Amino acid sequence: RRAQAFGASSGPGATRDGHPVALLANIGGVDDAERAGAQDVEGVGLFRTEFVFLSADREPTVDEQAEIYRRVLAPFGDRRVVVRTLDAGADKPLAFADLGPEENPALGRRGLRLCEARPALLDAQLEALAVAARDTGADVRVMAPMVATADEAAWFAERVRAHGLPKAGVMIEVPAAALRSAHVLAEVDFGSLGTNDLAQYTMAADRMEGALSDLLDPWQPAVLDVVAAACGGAEQVDRPIGVCGEAAGDPLLALVLVGLGVASLSMAPSKVPAVRVALGLHRLDECRALAEAARGARTAEDAREAVRAAASAEL
Ligand code: PEP
Ligand code: MG
Repeated sequence: RRAQAFGASSGPGATRDGHPVALLANIGGVDDAERAGAQDVEGVGLFRTEFVFLSADREPTVDEQAEIYRRVLAPFGDRRVVVRTLDAGADKPLAFADLGPEENPALGRRGLRLCEARPALLDAQLEALAVAARDTGADVRVMAPMVATADEAAWFAERVRAHGLPKAGVMIEVPAAALRSAHVLAEVDFGSLGTNDLAQYTMAADRMEGALSDLLDPWQPAVLDVVAAACGGAEQVDRPIGVCGEAAGDPLLALVLVGLGVASLSMAPSKVPAVRVALGLHRLDECRALAEAARGARTAEDAREAVRAAASAEL
């Protein structure tokens, strides 16, 4: 069977007809890195650096940061590691990166916005990453959280390059950036869709509010439309775009995302095997048809059911 020929159970991710889809890990620190590095993943698609410093009461020095980053990078050898710069604020407050109380923290100075207010914070982190990359020879790619405009992407990319880091990217998790992704991604080397925040901001539903979980469902057709727009813009400017939100770990939704044009899927490592099998059972044109079926649905539930009904019975 061709599914076996393209390694449905191990090795690089691919559709049944051999279209590559990198399968990557989401990690939050050294322990995660050591576990994920020993698994069959093609690298890291999201290292949430703020997780390392959630309990720090002062800003870590460049040396302290570099030591942690070396230990995170080492287990991956020459596999890629996408490091997200501090995404502080809102649901992930950091004591040393706090600009004071805000009425609406999720809509406030979080993520890259906070670093625009405190550029020394970003520069120290980029310096530490550059040192760790040099010491380990790792394939480090740096990306910014909560980017809304092309100007913000350009500002970030300039600072990344000034530190000698070879690749800069941005999270696409604000609808404005998704809708304008051709302009935003033209400033950088790659994009990564954060479906958790993209759903929150598309649906105007607080991701911390359990009572709104139906609205936050990444199968919401409106969210899929925004993802499709982001993928279209990325294609126009020939930039790879991946997904690193929780949606990437749902095997059926992963098929839809690949059909919409994403080149990589980053998830909790435990979810990689099932996603790998799902991809190996479907051709790229089938993924595209599944994406059309999902976007044609009226509700999230209908979208999920339409894809479940049309996907391989072996899933
Ligand atoms: C996201 O928003 O989807 C994402 C991957 O980042 P986080 O969950 O850390 O905000
Ligand atoms: Mg996010």
